[in-house]
Amino acid sequence: ALSTATTSSTATSATPTLSEICRQSTVKLLLDKTIPYDEEYIKSILCKIKENDVRNTWPVVFEPENAVCENCSHELELPTQRKGKSLDDMSYLITFLHFKQVSVKVRYCPSKECGAMNMVMPINQGLINIADKMIVSLEIFVHVRNCMKNEAPVRTALDSLMSTLMLKS
Ligand SMILES: [Zn+2]
Repeated sequence: ALSTATTSSTATSATPTLSEICRQSTVKLLLDKTIPYDEEYIKSILCKIKENDVRNTWPVVFEPENAVCENCSHELELPTQRKGKSLDDMSYLITFLHFKQVSVKVRYCPSKECGAMNMVMPINQGLINIADKMIVSLEIFVHVRNCMKNEAPVRTALDSLMSTLMLKS
């Protein structure tokens, strides 16, 4: 084939391919995402997590709430399955009390100059989306961070997390 992928060093001079534009827009969107670090906010989120955990009221379908692209403000396509993801490629919600299969959808930007894949970011619910494969509760991150603070090696932090999860499941 004549078309070859542009390398990063020549990206400025060569015309990027459509899929490369989409990839860059998506990456830019992801890099713009941060978790607000505010003690009160985190506390209120941890309360919400507990409520959903205890009542077992977590959603089973996750899809982006925004109707316009967060990158270029173009109206988005309807929520859909992520391109290239097979139907048996499951997604899971993981909290201290629950481990369940969920459906995670994306919304694509139809703009040819952007094409960003808008992913669901349910941070207000205390959940972090990891590549549409895992929706993990912030509580679990806080747990791992606390282990690290106490200078426990990553391995020990994860072991501790796993045993906590197993005890509670
Ligand atoms: Zn866009």
